[in-house]
Amino acid sequence: MSDTVLRLTGIRKGYNQGKPGEVHVLRGCDLEVRRGEVVALVAPSGAGKSTLLHIAGLLDTPDAGTVEIAGEMMQAKSDKRRTEVRRAEVGFVYQFHHLLPEFTALENIVLPQLANGVARAEAEARAKALLETVGVGDRAAHRPAAMSGGEQQRVAFCRAMANGPKLLLADEPTGNLDPETSDRVFAALMQLVQETGLSAVIATHNLELAARMDRRVRLSGGHLTEG
Ligand code: ADP
Repeated sequence: MSDTVLRLTGIRKGYNQGKPGEVHVLRGCDLEVRRGEVVALVAPSGAGKSTLLHIAGLLDTPDAGTVEIAGEMMQAKSDKRRTEVRRAEVGFVYQFHHLLPEFTALENIVLPQLANGVARAEAEARAKALLETVGVGDRAAHRPAAMSGGEQQRVAFCRAMANGPKLLLADEPTGNLDPETSDRVFAALMQLVQETGLSAVIATHNLELAARMDRRVRLSGGHLTEG
């Protein structure tokens, strides 16, 4: 089995091609993320982080280049297969939690598992265990509005992990939190990643957080560079 969970090769992406307002956001990006590796994606705002993460997570397609997830080349695959791989292998976390407001923390983590064919009792047990891991086990019955920003984001991490993905993609996951909360929530995320042994690409502006990851890649001028 391949030890590479994500491989991006020669990824190019632009918007409004051939029209006024044409932008070339990604100009040939290569990235390899191995099993268990946590990679910081550091870039100024507007550099194309979200575009890159969407392509890596099969939410968007590149103009050129290849995306390989858990050993499977994705570009020639049907929409159905891309959706299956995204659901099974990729977890997303955004700057804002995007939890469903009318459901409890627990239900927010149970629902994606039910959609994936997991039995309710098993889904609830897994949701509880995930919430415990990030220190919000006592908030399981709370709705998002009754939780702090840091707690909401921890629940969002658990939801991203609900179906046991191999790859976590996070876009400024602590960008909306004050520095102290950000620090604690980031530590919870790292613990979850390490305990589940999954690989992660975490976009951040915060160089202190980036320094705590295994590797750093910078996105600038449409290219990725190590360091
Ligand atoms: P980041 O996440 O690093 O802030 P994005 O990937 O969101 O950057 O955007 C990169 C660039 O591409 C920006 O200049 C943005 O305005 C442009 N862009 C993003 N999405 C679109 C789109 N759908 N149409 C046109 N331009 C876009």
